[in-house]
Amino acid sequence: MTVITQKRRAALVCLFVLVLSGASELYAAESALTLPQALTALGCNIRYNPLLRQGRIDMDGHDAAFTVGTRGNRTLVLFDNTHLISIDAPYTEGGVLLFPNTFIASVKNLFTEAVNQDKERYRIAAIIIDPGHGGKDAGAQGTHTINGKKVTVVEKDVVLKVSQELYATLRAAYPDKKILMTRTGDTYPSLDDRTVIANSVPLRENEAIVYVSVHANASFNRNARGYEVWYLTPEYRRDLLGSGGQANVSLLPIQNAMLDEEYTKESVMIAESIVAGFKGKFPASFPSRGVKAEQWYVVKKSKMPAVLVELGFVTNREDAILLSDPAGLKKFSDAIYTGLKDFITRFERSGGFIALK
Ligand SMILES: [Zn+2]
Repeated sequence: MTVITQKRRAALVCLFVLVLSGASELYAAESALTLPQALTALGCNIRYNPLLRQGRIDMDGHDAAFTVGTRGNRTLVLFDNTHLISIDAPYTEGGVLLFPNTFIASVKNLFTEAVNQDKERYRIAAIIIDPGHGGKDAGAQGTHTINGKKVTVVEKDVVLKVSQELYATLRAAYPDKKILMTRTGDTYPSLDDRTVIANSVPLRENEAIVYVSVHANASFNRNARGYEVWYLTPEYRRDLLGSGGQANVSLLPIQNAMLDEEYTKESVMIAESIVAGFKGKFPASFPSRGVKAEQWYVVKKSKMPAVLVELGFVTNREDAILLSDPAGLKKFSDAIYTGLKDFITRFERSGGFIALK
């Protein structure tokens, strides 16, 4: 009997402990989070100074400063150094910093709202892909013997295939952006037609558009090979703003120059991002010829950041092998896509034009 009683008592104690720990876990999950739990819940950085009992939460370029209070009381959170919000205070219990769930929810809301506002304010609304040449204009051509067969690489065909791949990838990645092509088949839109398409995309205030022209290179020097990305020379001043509808005409030349500088900076950033995209997708044996500046007609006339990508040389055998491989063409579009994606992410996170100055 005694033995049984002891066993029962042990079982009862055990049960009691289990219920207690179960209850405390339940309590923690429902009402307050520890620092590591809060980090996971918010997906952000939290810095905490236990001496000052102050902390700072950083996320997506925004921050919330808080002071630790006592359980059940409110504290003030200073968001982005601009506005104060009263929220249930974080507190310490047994030396452990705890964040009430209501605190986490409120802070999460503040960050989500701020990020959504950023997105509304500054975003790339449209990307225009311009497959060079087309129709009567074949562009550059190169004939090589590849795997015992004579293969002619035609620029207008190669750039269309790469552009179509790029279009599909961008459409899937950015369902909220307009992805446009200046031609979708073997047609020849004039250079003017292409810029008209680009410049007529309706944009809301603080929406930006990016223009990517896709070409393939050619040279009398059959050893010349590799990819390069061009942007407009900074010296060239485009007439970016018409005089219609502007309140202060005397400011126009200044605004024009400022906007042009922004477009140039952004074009350089896009060009550099795309070169980095190529470096990530191709072995070093396919060389980068870097970022270059020129007054290309199509790029020059577009009122937006614009670049021209030269995929490789149709006149070089090694490049022609890459350009004539249907599976390989996906690599070219992926390289451009990766570059564009990096630029878009940086642009939209940084607050667009203003932050890039
Ligand atoms: Zn071309």
